[in-house]
Amino acid sequence: MGDGLRDEDTRPRARLPSATVDVRTAAERRELMKAVYAEARECTRCPLHQTRTTVVFGSGSADADLMFIGEAPGANEDRMGLPFVGQAGKLLEKLLGEIGMERGEVFICNTLNCRPPDNRDPHPKEIESCRSYLWQKVDLIEPVVICTLGNFATKLLRADGTGISRLHGCEEVRVIGSRAVRLYPLYHPAAALYTPSMLETLRTDFHRIPSLLTRGAPEQPEPVELLPELEEEPVAEPQAFAGAAQPEPAPQLGLF
Ligand code: URA
Repeated sequence: MGDGLRDEDTRPRARLPSATVDVRTAAERRELMKAVYAEARECTRCPLHQTRTTVVFGSGSADADLMFIGEAPGANEDRMGLPFVGQAGKLLEKLLGEIGMERGEVFICNTLNCRPPDNRDPHPKEIESCRSYLWQKVDLIEPVVICTLGNFATKLLRADGTGISRLHGCEEVRVIGSRAVRLYPLYHPAAALYTPSMLETLRTDFHRIPSLLTRGAPEQPEPVELLPELEEEPVAEPQAFAGAAQPEPAPQLGLF
């Protein structure tokens, strides 16, 4: 693939036991994801755009049943434009291997698309600025299971301050954006790297993922009824987009 994106099966996906049949093919999901990525690459919603090297949007399959959400890109991720490329990522890949899965068949991203300087914790305002990107990823991918890795992602997706040590390994159905998913909080692999007992707990929790996937997508909420569209005046194209050449995306292997 010239753009480094992952090729997918082009058939629409039917997911049981949810009663609805998805109408989007994997190829369509991927194209939609590329459009959101294009927007994120230009993002200036929070000050992190001033210090980032690259937007770390996420990688893997846009048609994944399983999604992982970490905290924020670190220095390696910021340089390479891919999430979880360091030691924590290696551990994540190892654990995936133990349940017979590969990185390319899941989708991995973070609560933030940009690296906080000096690896500091994400600020609430940054998380809020980036949240709609994350919700769009969930809406497009329609995962069956979302594993939140560590406190930041878990608190964000549960909209609650309960910590990961109480919640890890406890699956619950949550609606994220417009999508009901099986939310499954896990310890962050970076924390588990240095604490053997935490690693064993993470491994035990991880090994339950296949059975969660087998249960399929939970029942989905009723779609929100859209108001009838109003006739709109045509809007002039903003100057920046009218004929201006857009920079080429960075060559990022393994994206979607
Ligand atoms: N790498 C990431 O991309 N996210 C994390 O949370 C940690 C390491």
